[in-house]
Parts: sequence; C-alpha cells; structure tokens
Amino acid sequence: MNGREEISSPRRTKEIIAAHGFSFKKSLGQNFLIDQNILNKIVDAAGLKENTGVLEIGPGIGALTERLAAEAGAVTAVEIDQRLIPILSDVLAPYPHVKIRHGDVLKVDLRQLFAEDFSGVERVSVVANLPYYVTTPILMKLLEEKLPLANIVVMIQKEVADRMAASPGGKDYGSLSIAVQYYSEPELICTVPHTVFIPQPNVESAVIRLKVRERPPVEVKDENHFFEVVRASFTQRRKTISNNLKARFFPKEGRERLEELLAAAGIEPSRRGETLSLAEYARLSDVLLEAGIS
Ligand code: SAM
Repeated sequence: MNGREEISSPRRTKEIIAAHGFSFKKSLGQNFLIDQNILNKIVDAAGLKENTGVLEIGPGIGALTERLAAEAGAVTAVEIDQRLIPILSDVLAPYPHVKIRHGDVLKVDLRQLFAEDFSGVERVSVVANLPYYVTTPILMKLLEEKLPLANIVVMIQKEVADRMAASPGGKDYGSLSIAVQYYSEPELICTVPHTVFIPQPNVESAVIRLKVRERPPVEVKDENHFFEVVRASFTQRRKTISNNLKARFFPKEGRERLEELLAAAGIEPSRRGETLSLAEYARLSDVLLEAGIS
C-alpha cells in the first residue's frame, strides 16, 4: 500500500504505537486488527466500489481505514479517542479521500454527517471493527435512524452476532434478533480467533453483514408498540407469552380478555416469546392496539 508496509502488519502496528507512545484503553474497547486475511474478508463482504461511501466507526490507528481507502470513493472515520487523532492524520495522510472526525458516534448527528460527507456517492456502507462495550447501541442507532445504508459489515462479539442472526425457537432468539431482523437481513460471514488482535480480547469474535432492508418484512400499525410488545414478551424468558403480557398490559384484569386477544392473533397462550416469528409479533401488536391495549 502506497509503497509502505500496511498499517495492519504486526511490525508496523507496533512501530506506530511505540512512536506515538500510545497505550490501549480497555474501557474504549481498543483491540486493533493485525491480520490481512480478516481485513480482506471484512472489506470483501461490504462489496465496495469507487462510487461507495464508507462510514467507519472507531478507526483505531487506521488498519481497516487504509483498506477501505483502497476500495471506496469516500471514507469517513469517527473516533472517540482524542489521542488517536494525530496518529490517524499522520498514517492516513496519503489518502486525501479519508476524513477523520473526532467524536462519540452515539452523539454524532449522522444525517448531517451523511449530507456533508456522502453527497457525492451513490451508496453508503458502514464497515467497522466495533468497540464491543457499545455494539448494540451503535447498531440500533444506525438501523433505527433509517439512514440510507446499503449494508453494515462489522466485527462484533460472536455471542451477539449469534443473537442477531437467530431464528425463532432457539436460545439465542430474542428482542435483539427481532429488532435487527426488522430492519435488516443478517448474515454471519466468519468467526474470528483471538490471535488477530492486539491486545487479544477475552471473548470470541465474528464478522456479520446486515443487508439493510428498504422496508420491514412485516407491516405494523405502530412500530413503537410492536417493539414494546416484543420486549414485554421476553421480560422473563422462561415464562409463557400469556404471563409476560399479563404483567405488562393487563396487570389488574383477569386472563380472559388477554386470551381472547391472543386467540384473535392466532397465538396459543402457553407458547413462549422465543417461539414467535416477526409476523406473529406484528399480528399480536396490531390486535392489541386495535383493542386499545398499549
Ligand atoms: N478499527 C481499528 C482496528 O480494527 O484495528 C480499531 C478497532 S477497536 C475494536 C474500536 C475503536 O473504537 C477504538 O479505536 C476506540 O477508541 C473506538 N471507539 C470506542 N468507542 C467509540 C465511540 N463511542 N465512538 C467512536 N469510536 C469509539
């Protein structure tokens, strides 16, 4: 790359860290990638082109950023750690189409960022090796804000990736699976060993691709109510849907009305929340709403 050894090579990573006297902060989820194969898999999974813009969250010292710069027309990287900003400006100086922004991605106005940085591209992807302590808030922010995204390719904790991609009926299926699958089609790309990071995290990792949907796979009358019903159904995993919904929506009444409404939605009261599909939750949420239960 650019006649120099890649940032992600273990030797150059160590050299950059030493030259800048950088010390890792565990609290910011700083585990940097030092493996070419994994970087290739991440970048390939995003299907980048000249006319693609990429938002990277947490560039670290730029290992992935450099790869993205080689493929995409515009790259914006948002990094929370002020100490990394001069390092990034230095190592990424050869790539004028890379913009580094200092900030907490959870606080950044992403619509404004998209308008400022991606007006000249045809599509935008998010590609990142995410800080694990904020994986879910970051992904839910990207999805719930309904940004014009083609896909999201991220390295995350394997256990979280399994929950996002889970189907009804298994132990991994829950409100996170439903929320993610409402907005996107998740696909596990690969699992990743500890050895590709420095320092090595003490959890297993995986790369997941979320193909962002143009419209949700189910139609609901009120999205907030739909998600409220889903959350309520998983309050206590081992309880039946009927018990969980009763506690949340019918605390003072008898069970008859609830069972009537469950029957109208075609759902056995003895089932558990983890067995219901998105379509069943959509039906249930609409039936409850129509009956004035919210
Ligand atoms: N992309 C680099 C790589 O793969 O080597 C570093 C990935 S490291 C797992 C996560 C990065 O996210 C760190 O650089 C960390 O400082 C940054 N970070 C943590 N929380 C953040 C936040 N809320 N907003 C933006 N960046 C964040």
